[in-house]
Amino acid sequence: MTTKILVTGGAGFIGSHYVRTLLGDEGPGDVAITVLDRLTYAGNPANLDEVRGRPGFAFVRGDICDASLAADLMAEHDQVVHFAAETHVDRSIDGGARFVRTNAVGTHTLVDAAHRARIQTFVHISTDEVYGSIDSGSWPETHPLAPNSPYSAAKAAGDLIALSYHRTHGLDVRVTRCSNNYGHHHFPEKLIPLFITNLLDGRQVPLYGDGSHVRDWLHIDDHVRGIELVRTKGRAGEVYNIGGGAELSNKELTGLLLDACGATWDSVRQVTDRKGHDRRYSVDCTKIRTALGYAPEVDFATGLAETVRWYRDNRTWWQPLRERAAR
Ligand code: NAD
Repeated sequence: MTTKILVTGGAGFIGSHYVRTLLGDEGPGDVAITVLDRLTYAGNPANLDEVRGRPGFAFVRGDICDASLAADLMAEHDQVVHFAAETHVDRSIDGGARFVRTNAVGTHTLVDAAHRARIQTFVHISTDEVYGSIDSGSWPETHPLAPNSPYSAAKAAGDLIALSYHRTHGLDVRVTRCSNNYGHHHFPEKLIPLFITNLLDGRQVPLYGDGSHVRDWLHIDDHVRGIELVRTKGRAGEVYNIGGGAELSNKELTGLLLDACGATWDSVRQVTDRKGHDRRYSVDCTKIRTALGYAPEVDFATGLAETVRWYRDNRTWWQPLRERAAR
């Protein structure tokens, strides 16, 4: 039987990879997908060109804060995978209102509609940033949330609202908290695609502060694998961390990107640190590994080399987006 999945934010970086993967030749074959996306500056219809016209694919341009649209769409679907969000921390520091609206209010609109329509399963894509910052060790899913940026605080609100619908109404909500994703089709305002596209254009790259901030990097293929394990085998009301097992300081990452693009440290400009910049994120992935058999498969050096190659070969995809990023 075909499972009808409503995928919010499916024109963005991770959501579109999820849709391309599920409707691709290696996909499960038993799903139909409707993408609900507002097409903000970060949403790109071209990300879905590969699956447009495939049986089972539909696209609706709309806002997750639109309760009546959400109710109509829920009535036609079995499951929801919710990616839609405002995602850029720097933009949230400039102004948080849109973040609260989409990430908190929009998530509430969706879970409420899902509950009323008796949706089978609602997978909420959260982030490791909801835990705050950790100097050593890693967070298990039970760690209290202590987000520091307007982005992560609004994501934490959405994450907790979604879980409240499980506890209060028994809605089958499953939450994933993943580390920093990387890969192709990543909007060129985020660190890895910004640095690659700048370096390919012979421009400098801006490194925040002393570059000692540490992030764990997760390839989008591994992330999609993790989400699918949660959607198909996870349990209602549970939270699952998803990591890539590739922890690097921003300075180390910059060195790798300079090498991959044939540039030197002359191309690096140190800039004033981001306000409230979290020092380190690190998720403990024991739960998803032992309960669902998840393990990251993409080696970071290989994944990064492939990503750089993709940006080298797909200038027509990212060049127009740089202008949008500046808006
Ligand atoms: P993205 O910014 O590339 O895409 C977001 C998508 O959501 C866009 O297509 C945009 O048009 C859509 N959208 C925004 N507001 C909307 C609204 N009100 N209604 C409908 N659609 C709307 O984001 P991404 O990097 O693909 O991230 C996807 C999810 O994963 C987000 O929830 C994000 O918080 C989470 N996440 C991302 C990362 C990462 O490294 N990229 C890490 C952890 C968690």
